[in-house]
Amino acid sequence: IRRDRDGGAMSQPRQPNILFIMSDDHAAHAISAYGSRINVTPHIDRLAAEGARLDHCFCTNSICAPSRATILTGVHSHRNGVLTLADRFDGRQETYPKILQDAGYQTAIFGKWHLGHGGHADPSGFDHWAVLPDQGLYHDPAFFVKGERVQLEGYVTDLITDYALDWLRGRDRERPFALMVHHKAPHRPWEPDDRHQYLYEDVDIPLSETFDDDYSHRSNAARNAEMRIADHLYHYDLKQDVPEGLTPAEEKRWKYQRYIKDYLRCVASVDDNVGRLLDYLDEHGLADDTVVIYTSDQGFFLGDHGWYDKRFMYEESLRMPFLIRYPREIPAGSVVDAMVTNLDFAPTFLDYAGLCATERMQGRSLRRIVAGEAPPDDWPQAMYYRYWMHLAHHNVPAHYGIRTRRHKLIYYYGEALGTTESIDRPTEPEWELFDLEEDPRELRSVYDDPAYADIQRTLTDELHRLKAHYGDDR
Ligand code: CA
Repeated sequence: IRRDRDGGAMSQPRQPNILFIMSDDHAAHAISAYGSRINVTPHIDRLAAEGARLDHCFCTNSICAPSRATILTGVHSHRNGVLTLADRFDGRQETYPKILQDAGYQTAIFGKWHLGHGGHADPSGFDHWAVLPDQGLYHDPAFFVKGERVQLEGYVTDLITDYALDWLRGRDRERPFALMVHHKAPHRPWEPDDRHQYLYEDVDIPLSETFDDDYSHRSNAARNAEMRIADHLYHYDLKQDVPEGLTPAEEKRWKYQRYIKDYLRCVASVDDNVGRLLDYLDEHGLADDTVVIYTSDQGFFLGDHGWYDKRFMYEESLRMPFLIRYPREIPAGSVVDAMVTNLDFAPTFLDYAGLCATERMQGRSLRRIVAGEAPPDDWPQAMYYRYWMHLAHHNVPAHYGIRTRRHKLIYYYGEALGTTESIDRPTEPEWELFDLEEDPRELRSVYDDPAYADIQRTLTDELHRLKAHYGDDR
């Protein structure tokens, strides 16, 4: 129990509100609180300044629908059934919104759902919902409002926030709320709003240090991936013809500027709309009693390795931003170093509601850690990753692996294994091992380096142990 200025005990609300804001493909290195070199996000940064920034938050399957299913259920893809983009979510399973709803929370979700529509795939566990059909549109989008199609005019990021604010205004003030605001932005094809369409017009956005990566010293997987800005980013995303007469290097830079500016303009709108929600909490005296989270469903390559997508277990794609503010517990401006994943989100939300994680959940609550306590001795020292969609998109082979604080071991096993949305064409199995202390940009696999033989053996054992621990037997 905290004391107020006069020494009296301030009552702690038994169940704080939860405001979970998640964007789509917003990499941590495009948030100024994470040290972005390419943009500023003053509203999102408030959460870091007034709460905690998690520096080692990772996605267990770095792609939209699977990450969302894991966040809802607190279990790995092979447990919740959403391994790929083509798998529909079975909403009959246990999710944190359902549990919070049962515990007396008012629940709602607005924005991107992306887990299928109709029947058991519709959002469940929500008193109210308005979600985009599949990816939805940036301009004048339709929504499914509790199943009914509604056509709106305006910009999607503003409209999602409008829905959230309307719902907050009409809520029951006697009960806590759990509100999920899931932005479509900044997912491709990047379409900024009118307010930001000229942002960055006269500046050059800095290039990633690995922009001209030549993919040497790594797997064929990296070399063969079809997500190069130079070779695979086309008119659909650029919305403009490449000027004639450019050298290949100039053309690659032109495409990068074209892409990254629109991406960052979409981010700017998300940031503004985070500000609108934070302002509402301030104006209505809710800031102290509301746990606010900002995250994204996974990371993204922002020209890193010359790429523009995700899927891989490499850092820029694996890492999720995670900022959390709860003034009653979380010290302002703190930085959390513990290794966490999107498995941990659901147990964390339940913990704030005074509930334990369920038997089924595979993550652990972050509540004490973000409040400043050291992680318990048995806190995981490695995270397990698996991407299932063999070769289907961007020619990325399926892979699994582990990341420890210092190392990363990846196994591209080379088979579709009958998963949906995979191409049934075997590839040569291959391994990668990175020493993230010596090589934080992951430019040189040391898998075959004799100096790493012991580490390679230890990590391989740990990979198999974790895979079994999480019940992934394929
Ligand atoms: Ca995504």
